[in-house]
Amino acid sequence: MPATPVTIRMHERDNVAIVANDGGLPAGARLPSGVELRDRVPQGHKVALADIGAGAPVLRYGIPIGHAAADIAAGSWVHERLLAMPEARALEGLPVATVKPAPQPPLEGYTFEGYRNADGSVGTRNILAITQTVQCVAGVTGFAVQRIKAELLPRFPNVDDVVALEHGYGCGVAIDAPDAVVPIRTLRHVSLNPNFGGEVMVVSLGCEKLQPERLLPPGSFPITDERAVADVGASAEGGLDVVCLQDEAHVGFMSMVESIMRQAEEHLERLNARQRETVPASELVVGVQCGGSDAFSGATANPAVGFCTDLLVRAGATVMFSETTEVRDGIDQLTSRAATPEVAAAMVREMAWYDEYLKRGSVDRSANTTPGNKKGGLANIVEKAMGSIVKSGSMPIAGVLAPGEKLERGRHRGLIYAATPASDFICGTLQLAAGMNLHVFTTGRGTPYGLAAVPVIKVATRSDLARRWHDLMDVNAGSIADGRASIEEVGWELFRLMLDVASGRRKTWAEQWKLHNALVLFNPAPVT
Ligand code: CA
Repeated sequence: MPATPVTIRMHERDNVAIVANDGGLPAGARLPSGVELRDRVPQGHKVALADIGAGAPVLRYGIPIGHAAADIAAGSWVHERLLAMPEARALEGLPVATVKPAPQPPLEGYTFEGYRNADGSVGTRNILAITQTVQCVAGVTGFAVQRIKAELLPRFPNVDDVVALEHGYGCGVAIDAPDAVVPIRTLRHVSLNPNFGGEVMVVSLGCEKLQPERLLPPGSFPITDERAVADVGASAEGGLDVVCLQDEAHVGFMSMVESIMRQAEEHLERLNARQRETVPASELVVGVQCGGSDAFSGATANPAVGFCTDLLVRAGATVMFSETTEVRDGIDQLTSRAATPEVAAAMVREMAWYDEYLKRGSVDRSANTTPGNKKGGLANIVEKAMGSIVKSGSMPIAGVLAPGEKLERGRHRGLIYAATPASDFICGTLQLAAGMNLHVFTTGRGTPYGLAAVPVIKVATRSDLARRWHDLMDVNAGSIADGRASIEEVGWELFRLMLDVASGRRKTWAEQWKLHNALVLFNPAPVT
C-alpha cells in the first residue's frame, strides 16, 4: 500500500511545501489539501501548493526564496531550474535591535563534570595538544605523537588523548599581509582551547616565517611551568616550550622525536593531575554548524538545535552560530535580533567583509550550494540560509567575533555570532579557536565529520539517514518529520546528551571511531 503523502510547510504564507516521504512521491499522489501531484517529486523537494505565475515569488519560510522562471501549476515539482534567485539584501537601512524576544525564565540547576582551567574556562576533555608553527614539521610531530600514544599515554590515565595541531600554514605565505592576522590568531587561539588545559608546547622547524614568538608572543599564553627547560633542542624563551628541529643540538631524526617526547611528558604529568569537577551548565561553550544540508535541515534538525540553543542561553551558557554565506540572506532577521546597535554594526561589518572577499574571487554567496544540497531539495543559497539560520534559536544576539577571534570571559556570553566561512572544517577550526568546548553538527545528506579536540554531536535531519548511519549519527531529528517527536522533545534530548557528553559519561560516535577531520586554517591572505 502506498504511504500517505506527507509534506512539510514552514510558514502559513508558503506556496510550496517539501515532500517528507522516503523515496519521494509519484505523480498522481493526492496531498491531504486535495492538490494532486503533476510530477514525481523526490524526498525533500518542493511541490507547488497553488498555481504560481511566471515572475511571482516562491515562498518558503514565509519569504521569497526565488521568483518563478515560468508558470508553475499547483502540484508541480518546483525544482531549482524554475527559480530565479533574488539579489542579496543590501547592507544599508537594515532594522537594528527592533526585535526584543520575550524574556524566558532562566534554567537553573543543570550541571556537568568538567575540567576547570586557571583562566576560569572549562574543558570537556583533557587533551595534550602539540602546536606546530609550520606544516614542515608535521611528519616528525606525527611520528612522535604515535610513540607518545603508545609509550607514554598509558601511564597517564586521566589524559584523554594527544593531538598534533597539524595545518597547512606557517611558511610560503605573505605573512605581513593584513589578512594574515586571521590564520595566525586562529592557530594561536586553537592552541589555547579549553580542552587543552592551558598546557602549550610548540614544535618549530626553525627557518619558517611563522616564528614561535610571533605565533605565541609573551603574555598570550599561560605559563604552566616556571622551571627552565634544559632539554636538547628545546628552549623556554618567555616561558614558551619550543622544540626546534633545526637546532644544532639535534643529531639525527630520533633526537628530534625524543626531544618532543620528553617535553610532552612534562605536560602530560600536569594534565594527568587534573580532575573533573561539577560545574554549572553555563560553562558550556557550544559551536553549532551544519554540513551536507538538505531541505529537512531547516525543518527538523536545525529547529531542534535552535530550541536547544535557547535552552543553553537560558542556562547561562554560550552558543556560537557561524557560516557567513548561510546567514547572509537573513541579515535583516539578525540585525533586528541584535541586542544593541553595536552588535548589529559588527554583524554588518562581517557580512560586508565577506561580500568583498567573495567579490575578489569573482563569485558571490551563490557559490555556496553543493550538488548534494540540490539533490536534497535545496534550490539555492537563500533557501539554504533560511534553514541554516534557525540553529541560532530566538534569543537576542549578544556579541560578534571576527574570524579567529577568541571569546572573552566576562565580555561574551549568551548567543554569539562567530563569523566563519561555511566550510565544515574551516568553521570547526574557527569555532575551536573561539573557545568552544562542545560542537553540534547537523546533516541531511550525511557526513562522518569529527574533530580531535572537541566532541562533535551529530544530528541527522532524516530518519532514513539515521537508520543507515546508525553508528555515526548521535541524534535523529528525523523523528520530527515522522511525527514521532516534537521539535521541543528533540531539543531537550540534545540538551541532556550535551551534558552527558561534556561530562565524559557518553562518547559521540565520532569519538568512538576516532574520526577526525583536519584543522583547516582560513587564510584570506596571499601565498607566495
Ligand atoms: Ca558548514
